[in-house]
Amino acid sequence: MNLQLKSFEEYQEAYKNSVENPEAFWGEIAENFFWKRKWTNVLNWNFTEPNIKWFEGGKLNITENCLDRHIYKLGDKPAIIWEPNDPNEAHRILTYKQLLAKVETFANVLKNNNVVKGDRVCIYLPMVPELVIAVLACARIGAIHSVVFGGFSARSIADRINDAACKLVVTSDGGFRAGKVLELKSIVDDALMQCDSVERVIVLTRTRTPISMIKGRDVWWEDEIKKVETQGNPPCPAEEMDAEDPLFVLYTSGSTGKPKGVVHTTGGYMVYTGYTFSNVFRYQPDEVYFCTADIGWITGHSYIVYGPLSQGATSLMFEGTPTYPDAGRLWDIVDKYKVNILYTAPTAIRSLMAFGDEYLEGKDLSSIKKLGSVGEPINEEAWHWFNKKIGKEKAPITDTWWQTENGGILIAPIAGISPTVPGYAMLPLPGVQPCLMDEDGKEIEGNDVSGNLCIKFPWPGMLRTTWGDHERCRQTYFSTYENKYFTGDGCYRSPEGYYKITGRVDDVLNVSGHRIGTAEVENAINMHADVVESAIVGYPHPVKGQGIYAYVIVANHHIDAESTRKDILQTITRLIGAIAKPDIIQFVADLPKTRSGKIMRRILRKIAEGEINNLGDTSTLQDPTVVEAIIKGAEEMK
Ligand code: ATP
Ligand code: MG
Repeated sequence: MNLQLKSFEEYQEAYKNSVENPEAFWGEIAENFFWKRKWTNVLNWNFTEPNIKWFEGGKLNITENCLDRHIYKLGDKPAIIWEPNDPNEAHRILTYKQLLAKVETFANVLKNNNVVKGDRVCIYLPMVPELVIAVLACARIGAIHSVVFGGFSARSIADRINDAACKLVVTSDGGFRAGKVLELKSIVDDALMQCDSVERVIVLTRTRTPISMIKGRDVWWEDEIKKVETQGNPPCPAEEMDAEDPLFVLYTSGSTGKPKGVVHTTGGYMVYTGYTFSNVFRYQPDEVYFCTADIGWITGHSYIVYGPLSQGATSLMFEGTPTYPDAGRLWDIVDKYKVNILYTAPTAIRSLMAFGDEYLEGKDLSSIKKLGSVGEPINEEAWHWFNKKIGKEKAPITDTWWQTENGGILIAPIAGISPTVPGYAMLPLPGVQPCLMDEDGKEIEGNDVSGNLCIKFPWPGMLRTTWGDHERCRQTYFSTYENKYFTGDGCYRSPEGYYKITGRVDDVLNVSGHRIGTAEVENAINMHADVVESAIVGYPHPVKGQGIYAYVIVANHHIDAESTRKDILQTITRLIGAIAKPDIIQFVADLPKTRSGKIMRRILRKIAEGEINNLGDTSTLQDPTVVEAIIKGAEEMK
């Protein structure tokens, strides 16, 4: 069977088939991959514990599927094209053959440093090819990677390292991002003061920023590679993994304070990311595919590394930002490498749109055939700009809805064969059974309806647990609605049956496509010595999608409000990272609470949105004058 659907009719047929006979459907797709031993059972599941097993009994290594099996035919094809932050620095290309060799060498480095199957390895690297190499080297030997986005603070890294008890950290001296140098190793040093499990830190040279190297703990990447070379650079055979062995942990924010370690396993994740990559983008053998995400997020895991490589694609990775040195950078890259498929985020589109069309002048975008969007709902204005200015009205846009927990895309048009409507993720992919639920736990049937989005049947790429706390996984995703996976998103289904995601229905914000839990930010603000209490809400932001609005009660200002505001921002940067910094901080004397003492966020949200004439029911407020004072304060800030 061929993985790729060729027409809308084929999609409809596959969809029907996948619902009526899911095991046969996924079994056939899994045949397109290389297994050391075939599975005995395609699917075993219940959503009550939950307990989800795909391809049980199957043995494989995902790196053999991403690398070894391509060597004969595609050995000299670029697997990774790397564009540096500085456009004047040389770019790098790694063919499949070269990438395999580097992965094997680094896998041997990990082994030399006592990493064995099942150990957790934290990877905190900038967007350089060595990040892909480190990820795949872990998978090669069956170590579980936990990639932490380069923008997170020492405290956030420490929390993640401790949660998974990582044994080794891979980092670099620093990272280049726009005009700045990020001092990654120094941040890791701070993190490790709070971690006992880490025995070794491997440090890649990138910026040659001065760093401390601690004897017995820290070693240089390059020295370790040399050691393997003096050992004769032996091959590193791929560890035989069970289909359900964990492949990686990736932390994501939830509605409570502590990030969750989402666990993905090997077989199902491989099949799902490969199948969805091949189909959603309808990747053709000579196409250059460019996903602008960072590998620190799920999109980078699934659609820079595993999905494209398992399909033998050429995946372009970019170290820098879309606006450096100027807002034409992405278009320079498209032009330079003749990119055919561009997968990016609404926040990037809106920001580039705001810089103006002059940055498009003189850039040849004629290579673009397909466009993708991910991370948050795409507004119509951005959709049309993307379609007109970038796709020249010839490239289909696929708006892909999915989550860290999903492993891969769940709802999206299949490029070029499905209908599209701006702002709609459209139809579920084969194997995905969405449903809308009402507040009473009943499924909402029919079309032209809205509800909470759930999925009622497992798909191979879904999370299996949250690291070290299975009960949390059950509680968060499988307890709201009986026998359903709850996404936390609201959704509208149109008269035609098309899905439109309307945003989170829980206390999670989506800032520039990044998930941020309100409780996490509140906890960080409350750590500031002068803060008594705080409440965080989202408000519409022209570029970020959602901005963060903080209402903060302080005991006193050490100097003045402005310096307290800066200190609070610094506290958040320290505790979480700059991505969680509020856009607006309003100091208030009190927060609106119900008689039972719960903060009424709904009212705070309205005030943040400027909708003060439409506060809704305020009858349960303990003290209505609090709201008046906050409104007055908000107006004074304008
Ligand atoms: P990344 O981790 O790379 O940011 P991601 O945004 O797909 O990828 P999450 O950070 O886990 O994944 O965020 C998932 C949430 O983002 C969803 O619950 C939803 O609210 C929102 N989201 C993601 N993609 C879309 C989309 N295409 N349309 C609407 N909302 C989206
Ligand atoms: Mg996101």
